[in-house]
Amino acid sequence: RLVLGIETSCDDTGAAVLDERGAILGESLHSQKEVHLRTGGIIPTVAQQLHRENIEHVVQEALERSGVDPSHLSAVATTVKPGLALSLGIGLEFSQRFVRQHNRPFIPIHHMEAHALTVRMLHPVAFPFLVLLISGGHSLLAVARGVDDFLLLGHSLDEAPGDTLDKVARRLSLRKHPQCSTLSGGQAIELLAKNGDKKRFNFRTPMGQTPDCCFSFAGLRNDITITITKKEKEEGIEQGTLLSCVNDIAAATQHTVAAHLAKRTHRAILFCKANGLLPSSSPTLVVSGGVASNQYIRKALTVITESTGLHLLCPPAKFCTDNGVMIAWNGVERLREGKGILSPNIDVHYEPKAPLGVDMTAEVRAAA
Ligand code: ATP
Ligand code: FE
Repeated sequence: RLVLGIETSCDDTGAAVLDERGAILGESLHSQKEVHLRTGGIIPTVAQQLHRENIEHVVQEALERSGVDPSHLSAVATTVKPGLALSLGIGLEFSQRFVRQHNRPFIPIHHMEAHALTVRMLHPVAFPFLVLLISGGHSLLAVARGVDDFLLLGHSLDEAPGDTLDKVARRLSLRKHPQCSTLSGGQAIELLAKNGDKKRFNFRTPMGQTPDCCFSFAGLRNDITITITKKEKEEGIEQGTLLSCVNDIAAATQHTVAAHLAKRTHRAILFCKANGLLPSSSPTLVVSGGVASNQYIRKALTVITESTGLHLLCPPAKFCTDNGVMIAWNGVERLREGKGILSPNIDVHYEPKAPLGVDMTAEVRAAA
């Protein structure tokens, strides 16, 4: 069985061909990150135009590298939710044309489900397992019980941790910092935090009074911004030119984000244990998404998993971020179980907003 996966939900145009065991036969990825960094954020119409310009080539390249003829594909799997409407539309439109032209089955994919299950391509992790997804666009805790069976324990009420780190980095103009010019916000903060004192600033860990597994980062970002502004005023300097305590702010920011993530994850683990949601032998926490590559955050999560007897698994950075491979893998898993496979002429619509699984956030709160 061979599956072509196509991803265009945000700012990466990705495609990959995988075989049934998850071997990557060919892949191609076109990232728009540089373009969006210049404009200080994703402009949906620009993202759409870049997907439109690149999709044909990216899919062709993945197919050529794999040496697989479209007629030999068992199915085409494509992200149809959630994501930016204009971006999702390009991938879906292309895919529907492609599956009709080659008469191949179509498998619509939920982007977050794909993130959650990518780990199974690399490790033999059996269902159920707990998963923490932390990226520029998402933060959520869920129990993965099957290829199309998820329990959502918590999600962000405002922004995602990667977005917060990117915004703090932008507020500090870290792109102008000699060591950080090519780094993402999160990477820049991790680097500077290494030489910072996390105790110099004391940011409050978010949602201390809310006993659930949801996240919030907007208030924290506001606290950090206020601190930066205060320091700039004290030193009588222009906005975005602070140098004196940037490392300490980075360290305190990273520490507070890590503490918040660890706290919510700990609560999710306790909830799972109390309700028998995880297996008693080798229960696992999978952590994925761009923010998962942060070593300090991983360390904080390790403390939690070690104290609760969970095994911590984190796919390599390449598989934590958006690509066609994770979509193709989700297609492989669905094909194996015969779940969600459509004939090519069925019309499929994209869904910009699509929650992951059954919402259990209220149950978690009530249980506390
Ligand atoms: P999504 O996958 O949710 O659609 P995305 O494409 O923005 O969103 P990713 O590509 O998974 O997310 O990750 C990018 C995010 O990860 C950025 O916000 C970036 O700052 C953050 N990030 C990358 N490396 C690190 C790091 N070492 N520490 C913290 N954050 C990091
Ligand atoms: Fe993603």
